Amino acid sequence: MFDSAYIRASSVNRALDVIGDRWLIMILQQAWFGVRRFDDFQTRLELARSTLTNRLKHLVEHEVLVREAYSDRPRRYEYRLGPRGRALYPAALMSLAWQQRWAPPTDQAPVLLRHLDCGALTTPRMHCADCGGEVDPRDVDYALGPGAREVSARSPRRRRSTVEGQPATRTLVSHELLELLGDRWTPQVAATAFFGLRRFEDMREALELAPNILADRLRRLVELGIFRTEVYQTRPQRLHYRLTDKGRAFYPILLALMDWGDRWYAPATGAPVILSHRPCGATLRPQLVCSVCGGLLDSHNVAPVAATPSVVRSQQR
Ligand SMILES: [Zn+2]
Ligand SMILES: [Zn+2]
Repeated sequence: MFDSAYIRASSVNRALDVIGDRWLIMILQQAWFGVRRFDDFQTRLELARSTLTNRLKHLVEHEVLVREAYSDRPRRYEYRLGPRGRALYPAALMSLAWQQRWAPPTDQAPVLLRHLDCGALTTPRMHCADCGGEVDPRDVDYALGPGAREVSARSPRRRRSTVEGQPATRTLVSHELLELLGDRWTPQVAATAFFGLRRFEDMREALELAPNILADRLRRLVELGIFRTEVYQTRPQRLHYRLTDKGRAFYPILLALMDWGDRWYAPATGAPVILSHRPCGATLRPQLVCSVCGGLLDSHNVAPVAATPSVVRSQQR
């Protein structure tokens, strides 16, 4: 029987409390590309100083960024990715891979990834560390873990993530991805489908969400092609929400975020939700591998490459 406690307990919540906001995601994306100083973030993202100040503070408080003085007079600080920030790398890579495959093309040259160990342009894939099989959401089972008890109470409500104007165009993260990840509820509604929920009422109950908010997010998820609807009853008409291929491809991102939330923000007693990989029976430990050589990908052996026509041509040869 399905237990909606899985959904409330899962560390996807915890991860989204830390990074589930468009500006936070864009700041992190800049940090990946080596931006460290306040003015540089501001110039590149074109956002209000107060917004940038409070987002940087939030990331420092959650130890995703580390603030270090680089000048004494005047006192100035720079912001570097700390261990927690660097550990978001798998989520960032899977996001980029999803975006390349599924998000509508923009006028910016997309970012491709080169695996330095084999030299090829790579598409990161998420595999099970035990059996090496590619992770398919339909092959994953869930059980409550030791930390589940401590999160049965509702987690404190974070400020609602609002759309404060449209993000500047100078971002490598697609608007679709920002919409899917940069909001407190959208990714959680998508996540319910991975836990096997299909009906409005079941989702509403599992998330303890106001019907109008859930209806709004479901409508957007259908518009974005993450869900498709299926009539399972007429008079009155009732719909099932089913994942599309594009929606299913979103799973590795959520899995990477859950893994990250478990690792850094779970209760001391342990992960609240334990995932197991049905084909091998092992506890699922996701790892990223290169689509070309099968070698492991990490932050040291992957380099971003702008997809200029010559890069694309050289790849096609
Ligand atoms: Zn496995
Ligand atoms: Zn490779």
